[in-house]
Amino acid sequence: MLHNLMEDVVKQLFDDVISLHPEICQCDHCRHDIMAVALNHLPPRYVVTVKGEVYTKINMLAQQFRIDAIAAIAQGMVTVTKKPRHDKDPEA
Ligand SMILES: [Zn+2]
Repeated sequence: MLHNLMEDVVKQLFDDVISLHPEICQCDHCRHDIMAVALNHLPPRYVVTVKGEVYTKINMLAQQFRIDAIAAIAQGMVTVTKKPRHDKDPEA
């Protein structure tokens, strides 16, 4: 199976990072937008996995990409907060 390791790293770190920023909207739409921005800024790290092996690889490699992933999530929070898409209500 082909697997983008960076996606796991971002997902693992996301709650930790966003919990430090209670001012950021945490609705599902914004959370997904922030993750998308973060992942678009990070180079994908594909690994080939067999069943059960993936988590070992994540733990080994996650440390290397942690700082990049945290920076990208922070960037995503800034981008999404500037232009949130959760509110398409014309009355807003
Ligand atoms: Zn929102």
